[in-house]
Amino acid sequence: MKKIAVIGAGTMGNGIAHVFAQKGFQVHLIDSQKSALDKAIQTIEKNLDRQINKSLISSNDKAHTLHRIANFTSIELGVTDVDLIVEAATENSEIKKSIFKQMDQFAKADCILATNTSSISIAQLAAVTNRPGKVIGMHFMNPVPVMKLVEIINGAATDEATSSAIVTLTKTIDKIPCVVKDAPGFIANRILMPMINEAIHAFSEGISDAQTIDEIMKLGMAHPMGPLQLADYIGLDVCKNILDIMHDGFQNEKYAPCPLLVEMVAAGKLGVKSGAGFYKY
Ligand code: NAD
Repeated sequence: MKKIAVIGAGTMGNGIAHVFAQKGFQVHLIDSQKSALDKAIQTIEKNLDRQINKSLISSNDKAHTLHRIANFTSIELGVTDVDLIVEAATENSEIKKSIFKQMDQFAKADCILATNTSSISIAQLAAVTNRPGKVIGMHFMNPVPVMKLVEIINGAATDEATSSAIVTLTKTIDKIPCVVKDAPGFIANRILMPMINEAIHAFSEGISDAQTIDEIMKLGMAHPMGPLQLADYIGLDVCKNILDIMHDGFQNEKYAPCPLLVEMVAAGKLGVKSGAGFYKY
């Protein structure tokens, strides 16, 4: 694989483009919003500068990385000659299905179609394409240039060649692949979100305050960040959305979002991005 398209230039898309370009791939960064592309390039520049300041890369590396990224506002123009597409657009199944139809229509027949979705079923996205064997989950973690894990999700129809090609590629970009099957929440969120939800239950019952709950998990479990602070960083709306999907998918009450989480999202308290969640920002 030499040329890769990334669809969606938001938080995750800019990081994914950054990593592939830095490792020598030609990257087509695609977003329907020109402003999102401009912002993504600024973010990538800033993050490359941070790597220079830490002596991880040279200013020459920065120039080469930026040079390898081309911007597109059209999916059709951006995907025609690429070997892999990583879809990292807004977490909404209708938006993603529409993007997957276009990816399938305009990409080469042997192009692999990957998604960075946190919670949408791979089978559902594969079903709108004529190449379900070449559809796979490639779930990067935030911030992408820093985090080593890529959770690789094989859908029911994903073929062995696609899965092993993505495992190899993940190692090539210096990340660690962990392969799982398609199920609500996959593994990372299936385990993380109930922990966050339980912390919110404990907080809402007044068992302790937010700082203490987080301190217990940091000091006692060696977590770098407590669950309530982490929820603020992920976005409380995102946490609620993933819990809703697991609740629906497993039909199990243990995944139902805590009423306090539902209330906070309804009140617009979404965490860092809205200026307030369990903490003020
Ligand atoms: P974001 O809102 O920051 O960015 C989404 C981008 O997609 C926006 O720039 C938007 O303009 C673009 N977009 C929407 N519809 C489009 C279309 N039809 N064509 C082209 N571009 C379109 O979102 P994000 O946080 O980067 O999340 C992207 C994906 O990554 C989601 O599936 C999310 O679940 C997943 N994810 C997010 C995180 C995280 O911490 N933010 C972590 C892991 C996975």
